[in-house]
Amino acid sequence: MAQIQMLSEVLANQITAGEVVERPASVVKELVENAIDAHAEHIDIIVEDAGVSKIRVIDDGDGIKNDQVELAFQRHATSKILTQRDLFHVASLGFRGEALPSIASVSDVQLVTAQQDASQGMQVHYEGGTLLEAGSAAARKGTDVTVKNLFFNTPARLKYLKSQATELAKIVEVLNHLALSYPQVALRLRHGHKEILRTVGNGDLQQVLAAIYGVQQARKMLALQAEDNDFRLSGYTSLPELTRANRSYIAILINGRFVKQFQLTNALIKGYGSKLMVGRYPIAALQIEMDPTLVDVNVHPQKNEVRLSKEDELEAFIEETVRLRIQQENLIPDGYQNY
Ligand code: ADP
Ligand code: MG
Repeated sequence: MAQIQMLSEVLANQITAGEVVERPASVVKELVENAIDAHAEHIDIIVEDAGVSKIRVIDDGDGIKNDQVELAFQRHATSKILTQRDLFHVASLGFRGEALPSIASVSDVQLVTAQQDASQGMQVHYEGGTLLEAGSAAARKGTDVTVKNLFFNTPARLKYLKSQATELAKIVEVLNHLALSYPQVALRLRHGHKEILRTVGNGDLQQVLAAIYGVQQARKMLALQAEDNDFRLSGYTSLPELTRANRSYIAILINGRFVKQFQLTNALIKGYGSKLMVGRYPIAALQIEMDPTLVDVNVHPQKNEVRLSKEDELEAFIEETVRLRIQQENLIPDGYQNY
């Protein structure tokens, strides 16, 4: 047997990157989540070659203190939680302190940040996990991260990527979910010279739905609003006539986080009773607020799976809310336009 030794920091980060950074969309998700956690009001996302050659995320959030920028690239370094209690009350999208070091270990990253306009900011440049450059820089308030040549040093991962169209679709999906969770944040995605998504950031969820699915579609959505002891729900779900061939247009957002929870999407579908045609599914965005101690977000490195202590109750609540709304809609005489 060989000697047991501690892995180098760079290698440990690359191992973590294997879980956190699956594809370009994972990078977009982590960087935009960081911008949202930093209270950004405007976030610009610019990608080239579906994110493989370049992903740039510019925010106008809090920025990072100059003397903490290098720390942000260390594994398990986070400003978002400190104690075990915090871990069970996570109010931010991030908390694992893994994204920046993981991304930096499998790409070429430049980050410029400042906490105030026209102040002396800070700039760092990493390649394959190694710091190449650090120094002061003129910057606007916020953070500007550019990730180039993703997976340049992990060829197997690079080869595993799908077509540009598929990788771009994954990026769009990630941003759609973030836009639906945060209507108060103005998001803009450009691929090359093409603008793909733009939300105004005025807090109106229906306008985000319009930005994603089109105005006509957004008008065929029913507003939902309900509350009980444990949950507060608001959002939109489509009229039974507006459907899609799969469930991927249903977004369940718990405490600002898109979650992949089959049982919950199923509950929404069940709420329609027999109103949906077989094999057809609604478009929906449900924002659910609940006590964070009931939501365990520490399940998976990519943080889109959660464990809910009251999952059965939440399912029943969603199903009932949708059922009542659909029933109410049916009481309106034929011919009435729903807008
Ligand atoms: P986490 O988000 O889990 O804390 P990250 O590796 O994504 O871990 O980021 C590390 C830290 O760097 C964050 O806790 C935060 O303090 C800081 N940070 C990262 N991105 C930004 C940003 N866009 N604006 C302000 N601070 C940021
Ligand atoms: Mg993060």
